[in-house]
Amino acid sequence: MSFVYLDNNATTKVAKEVLEAMMPYFEQEYGNPSSIYDLASIPNKAIKSARETVADFLGANNPKEIIFTSCGSESANMAIKGVLDVNRAKKHIITTRVEHPCVLNLYKDLEKRGYLVDWIDVDSNGDLNVNQLIDLVKDDTVLVSVMMANNETGVIYPVSDIAAAVKEKNPKTIVFADGVQAAGKIPINLKDTKIDLFGISGHKFHAPKGVGALYVKSGTMLSPLVVGGHQERGKRAGTENVPYIVGMAKAASLAKESLQYELSEVKRLRDRLEEGILTRVKNAVLNSKSKNRVPNTTNIGFQYIEGELILLHLNDAGICASSGSACTSGSLEPSHVLRAQGVPFTSLHGSIRFSLSRYTTEKEIDYTIEKLPEIIQKLAKISPFQKELNEIMK
Ligand code: PLP
Repeated sequence: MSFVYLDNNATTKVAKEVLEAMMPYFEQEYGNPSSIYDLASIPNKAIKSARETVADFLGANNPKEIIFTSCGSESANMAIKGVLDVNRAKKHIITTRVEHPCVLNLYKDLEKRGYLVDWIDVDSNGDLNVNQLIDLVKDDTVLVSVMMANNETGVIYPVSDIAAAVKEKNPKTIVFADGVQAAGKIPINLKDTKIDLFGISGHKFHAPKGVGALYVKSGTMLSPLVVGGHQERGKRAGTENVPYIVGMAKAASLAKESLQYELSEVKRLRDRLEEGILTRVKNAVLNSKSKNRVPNTTNIGFQYIEGELILLHLNDAGICASSGSACTSGSLEPSHVLRAQGVPFTSLHGSIRFSLSRYTTEKEIDYTIEKLPEIIQKLAKISPFQKELNEIMK
């Protein structure tokens, strides 16, 4: 066992089949899909087929609803800025306190530019206050933006129900769901929902980093973020990244095939890890208590222990985990998601996210369950909170 990778919400390894599918498009079929000669026809067809596969993966009505982008952050920026640009008179936005920084920071910036943003709370289980959200929808609400699954806790938000209720109150309000952490982990069938815009990122489901997609429901008006050529039917300029688009489509079809495995086996291993830690480590508390969670994620707080120290010791034991989203880890700011849940300071700084994939093995989980209690015991001895820890650990 070289290392145990339990940070699949940060990124995933590229599947072997994905790499194989991409290879011909680097050296042989490298033509620009917009050109008219024969060398371009294969990449052109490959993009067409990839669009159909990704549309099928997301349960879209029509492949034309899929626009390829460079990542989840671009998909979110395109959705949000694109909607606001075609609805300039309306200034009210509703979102949650627990969005990924690529969405959260954009809304903070928009607030400074004169938008009125309402931030919806979550409870201590991580569940969203849906009634609060629906109550706030009004005539000039241009956008409601709720992620489908949280990257730090794995909690699933009922975006289909939210979209239906929002549209009932104001049919003109556009609903954007950041689906980056949901794709490949739970069933998604966008055609049966009232969600208008939905973003995904290939590297979260075993495609390479640097490719994503935005679903745009037919009829949804959107300005392009990247202006230039006519690629993506004028919605996103720039020569298509053919190998990566092909890779993401392959990853999408593999994820679709593996969904049942994800929902049963990956969940079983996640539950085994969670239970193993919570029963063996006395100062461990579950941060993601919601019943609705993606099957691969758990977030556990270790009271009175510093999270960065836990991560360093886990690293020494060959285990990769994380203390927040990749964009905020490395800063000592405690997680905005856990703060929104009201996680007390006693475990806020010692919270660790473990995220599995279909490549995670039982042996790796058992190794982690064995190593983690030893690490916590060691760190408990050097914690400045000896009195409190003695009370919990006895
Ligand atoms: N949205 C969520 C929920 C995420 O977890 C991430 C990445 O961690 C993103 C968006 C951004 O995706 P990308 O890294 O492809 O820009």
